[in-house]
Amino acid sequence: MIQGKKTEAALKKANLELERLANLDSLTHVANRRRFDEYLNREWNLAQREKYPLSLILFDLDYFKAYNDYYGHQAGDRCLQQVARSSGSAIARKTDLLARYGGEEFVIILANTNGDGALTVAETIRDRLKQLQLPHLDSQVSPWVTVSLGIATTIPTEQENPESLIAAADAALYEAKSQGRDRAILKELPPDP
Ligand code: GH3
Ligand code: MG
Ligand code: MG
Repeated sequence: MIQGKKTEAALKKANLELERLANLDSLTHVANRRRFDEYLNREWNLAQREKYPLSLILFDLDYFKAYNDYYGHQAGDRCLQQVARSSGSAIARKTDLLARYGGEEFVIILANTNGDGALTVAETIRDRLKQLQLPHLDSQVSPWVTVSLGIATTIPTEQENPESLIAAADAALYEAKSQGRDRAILKELPPDP
């Protein structure tokens, strides 16, 4: 009987650990895409009900293909780890979530945060990374590793959905890239007519 209880507790512990790992990106140890999707849907519904603003920051390393070519893929991996750690230190609230969106792109969900707040977080991420002065001798924009950031903010309604917020952040990121990189651009949803 006692044996049975012990096994039960061990199984429960193992299951919790499995669940934790299933939500984690194995390289950078931040949340993975699966966790991001789940959390965004949850926060979207909550913000819609409570009429809170919700913001998203999508960011991407500048000239990272060149970084890999110049320093090697393993150095590229270490660089991604450092960017993840540095960005994680820039978000303060328990309800904020940093996740690896894919490849060399990260995303942050900022619950109950308006555009101004999100822009402040984005600039903090950019500053902290710059302070690390990770060399990137093949970047066309800076001697250091930099990121471009696209921010989207909204008060969720039934007319929009989480995908439209991602699309707006993606469009803002595209603009940040085409305006010269190493900068943050903010878009409101719905866009001004
Ligand atoms: P841009 O400034 O426009 O963002 O240019 P870029 O070179 O950063 O963008 P591009 O999409 O051309 O290249 C992205 C690079 O990111 C190519 C790919 O090999 C690298 N990358 C994606 N995931 C990983 C990873 O897990 N580890 C490493 N080392 N590199 C990765
Ligand atoms: Mg990219
Ligand atoms: Mg890139």
